Amino acid sequence: MSWLDGELILNGMSKKDLAYAHDYIRSTVRNNGDTEEFPNLGENLLPIVQRKIICKSYEDAKELADSLNWEREYNLLIPFKDVDNIKETKKMKNLHERIKKEETKLNEYVKKTDCKNYKSKYIGCPQCGSKINKEYIYNCRCPVCREDLRSETTKITINRHKDNIKKITKELRIEKEKCSNKAKTKYLLLFEEYCG
Ligand SMILES: [Zn+2]
Repeated sequence: MSWLDGELILNGMSKKDLAYAHDYIRSTVRNNGDTEEFPNLGENLLPIVQRKIICKSYEDAKELADSLNWEREYNLLIPFKDVDNIKETKKMKNLHERIKKEETKLNEYVKKTDCKNYKSKYIGCPQCGSKINKEYIYNCRCPVCREDLRSETTKITINRHKDNIKKITKELRIEKEKCSNKAKTKYLLLFEEYCG
């Protein structure tokens, strides 16, 4: 028994849109399932149940979906405001730029603190005690036990940048959702189907 999940975004709820969704799910199931053993695969798709309330954004719709138990019972259709495609306000632009800056800082810091830049040729792993030639270390992981070989300070700094990015991304989302009245309504369709 295996199941397959996926999602697609519909522009509307016309017959044409729903027929497209049905075809999409059906062909996804048939392309991934064992149609030799189960020739009727994709013929009996789960019903689509639509939520009435329009979510404020794509993320908002995803969070709603996560809070519901729909998988393998029915496929879920959630209307949402497509705030990712509205004209940016000054505040949004500013937040976007701050995210980009923070990402640049993070990338530069990660590059700078890579084990490849350590002075010594061999690096000791504090976890398993191996002494490893720098040339065999990728992504700062110990090739023996997978331990992250970077210093605590480095890891803390990396996490601080990541937290900053998360924080600003959240601010941006709140700002976008405030403008949801300017956004078009779209439909997030989540499915999980039996594929043999
Ligand atoms: Zn190790």
